[in-house]
Amino acid sequence: MFREQMRGGTAPVARSGRLVYLRGMSTTFSHLIGGAFAPGTRHFDVIDPATGEAFATCPDASREQVDAAMDAAARAFAGTWSRDEALRRRTLAHMSEVLAAKAEEIGRIVSQEQGKPLANATGEVKGAAATLKMYADEPIPREVLRDDAKGHMVLVRRPLGVTAAITPWNFPVYTLVAKLGPALLVGNTVVAKPSPYTPLSSLALAAAVKDVVPAGVLNVLGGSNEVGAWLTAHPTVRKISFTGSVPTGKAIAKVAADDLKKVTLELGGNDPAIVLPDVDPKTVASKLFWGAFSNSGQVCVAIKRLYVHEDVYQPVLAALGDVARSVKLGPGLEAGTQLGPINNKPQFERVKELVADAKRNGGKVAVGGEPLARPGYFYPPTLVTDVGEGVRLVDEEQFGTALPVIPYRDLDDAFAQANRTHYGLGGSVWTSDVRKGEELAERLECGVAWVNQHMNLPATAPFGGVKWSGIGRENGRWGIEEFCELQVVNASRV
Ligand code: NAD
Repeated sequence: MFREQMRGGTAPVARSGRLVYLRGMSTTFSHLIGGAFAPGTRHFDVIDPATGEAFATCPDASREQVDAAMDAAARAFAGTWSRDEALRRRTLAHMSEVLAAKAEEIGRIVSQEQGKPLANATGEVKGAAATLKMYADEPIPREVLRDDAKGHMVLVRRPLGVTAAITPWNFPVYTLVAKLGPALLVGNTVVAKPSPYTPLSSLALAAAVKDVVPAGVLNVLGGSNEVGAWLTAHPTVRKISFTGSVPTGKAIAKVAADDLKKVTLELGGNDPAIVLPDVDPKTVASKLFWGAFSNSGQVCVAIKRLYVHEDVYQPVLAALGDVARSVKLGPGLEAGTQLGPINNKPQFERVKELVADAKRNGGKVAVGGEPLARPGYFYPPTLVTDVGEGVRLVDEEQFGTALPVIPYRDLDDAFAQANRTHYGLGGSVWTSDVRKGEELAERLECGVAWVNQHMNLPATAPFGGVKWSGIGRENGRWGIEEFCELQVVNASRV
């Protein structure tokens, strides 16, 4: 039907979507398909986690709209986009400028739909803008493999085609841009679908860049999990770049196998941090705290299990408790808030249940442990002791404001526990002997191993996990490779 409309010269989509209300402003959210806004035929509510109430609606893409977005992306790929590197670099630079200019506006949307403090939300959008600029300037490798009297052989990178980009709710803008930068740089076109918990900032991003991206190169659809499944199964898609949970990642890998689509899977983590006895507890406590509780613990590479040598266990626990009690938990849009609510009700219930389960299994709550008596999904930073392997809070990814703090005596045993998991995203070692820390960090089975820090990683370094934490890498030149096919062009001179 979409093709018929196009042939008939009718605009394929209406110019505007449904009017929804954000606190303090009215905004329209639509899909972006083929360079035009497309209104939803059905909608779902977007909940403000600070109130638990719906504050906006999001268009939920239909199958026809998914097909239309795929057609638009395929047409754009077949056009000049995949062959015109200068256009792509200009486009990425323009996207970066537009996003930077809209950082406050889109940051407010991130804060309200995700829950994080406004300054962090705005910072996320600014970081995304800087990342787009970084990709605008990244080289696309072209290697001469042979150059002699007989022949000239060059290794080039070709784009893969239409990419499905599917993102979670913890860093909605940054995770999207981390895919768009490398995908677009090398000439792919994209159909993106954000999480139904945080869809509006991605639709706002799409609206912001609509006039600087050639039609069809970037299509963004609001939608439920079902829409994500439609995207990943779609025959037009040649590459799936997914960030989200392990179960969804596994489901996507199975679907991708049927059509041999390439996948990058950035999945969950259960990062261990191992604290050696030579640390100064007060010095490390603040860093450990923010390594675990930034973004209210909703970071794939947050510290999720803390192993502390018994010699410093009590002072480290006490210092962590001091930080936890001093932090201001509140709505993201309220001045002074340092930690926002948990993003959504199922996740809020999960954090509560993991702490309750720990208590049923002998765990003790040192700090926190009860949700705030107010509307919304506020769960304070919580430290749980007297738990170990076999307790869900230790074995599973909590993705929220509860941290098990586990004493150890023997370092080898601590590493064995740290590695005895299906996960392998990040990990860290904390010691005053940095060289020893670096040596020990290599024993962690994970994609990024830190010493005396956690989470900190520039967009130029490869990021990704081992085991169930994922397949492939994002960021920098390694991330670019994930969106390319190698091609050898082998010419004979004789
Ligand atoms: P999720 O897997 O539930 O959803 C992620 C996205 O997948 C959403 O857009 C969702 O609509 C879509 N989706 C759901 N089912 C689908 C299906 N069958 N086919 C296609 N798409 C589908 O994850 P979430 O709860 O939004 O995110 C939290 C998880 O993401 C945590 O486990 C966290 O660790 C992980 N995460 C990982 C990274 C990383 O880079 N490794 C970064 C952020 C978050």
